[in-house]
Amino acid sequence: MIVIKTPEEIEILREGGKRLATILHKIKEKVAPGVSTKDLDTYATKLIREMGDEPAFLNYRPEGAKMPFPASLCVSVNDEVVHGIPSPKRILKEGDIVALDLGLKHKGLFTDMALTAPVGAVSASAAKLLKITEQALQAGINIAVAGNTVGDIGDSIENFVRPHGYGIVEVLSGHGVGRTIHEDPYIPNFGKKGTGVKLVPGMVIALEPMLNAGTKNVTLDKDGYTFRTADGKPSAHFEHTILITNDGPEILTKI
Ligand code: MG
Repeated sequence: MIVIKTPEEIEILREGGKRLATILHKIKEKVAPGVSTKDLDTYATKLIREMGDEPAFLNYRPEGAKMPFPASLCVSVNDEVVHGIPSPKRILKEGDIVALDLGLKHKGLFTDMALTAPVGAVSASAAKLLKITEQALQAGINIAVAGNTVGDIGDSIENFVRPHGYGIVEVLSGHGVGRTIHEDPYIPNFGKKGTGVKLVPGMVIALEPMLNAGTKNVTLDKDGYTFRTADGKPSAHFEHTILITNDGPEILTKI
């Protein structure tokens, strides 16, 4: 069921999105060689709690999962696509790329955001992967207009990415968000124009392209959470929570 948010809920989601963006950018500033992925998670939890909010992913148990997610922040390094579990043993090094995905619960309502950051100086190919993935997200946002469809968003992202030859992850997708962290509809990062659910004002959705330098295929680690590329090549992930309005898309996860 697709939930249309009330004006009161939208105000709370705007504030939550602003807080989430502020926090995620602070965490990004901590990314450096020698920092562990657990350090970033600990910092995320601290910043969220200081604001009086709750981390949405901590102890969240997706359908079919054997154990709840044990952290606030998903930290996915290099060939890890999404849902990497932070560890004090996983130390970032120069040249890595690190995807940071964070959900925030503010006054009972959820927003969701991700970005991928370079660790120190990275290769030109890694820098390009980050740039194109962020631009692919924007290509999706641009088309998130009332009257368009979920398929239009997927088509826009897919057409933007195709000339670059990257693999678009198909088994994971964007989603509705707000009253829970994952709501209807699913929003794949590929699709056909004019198909699928129609976008209407008051819908709140998370768009999140995941692009692989090589194959689109991914595998799931034994931990039940970490997705990684099947060919070991790097992957990048960017995400915003968006409100559909009569005047075009509004990015809620912005400072
Ligand atoms: Mg998400």
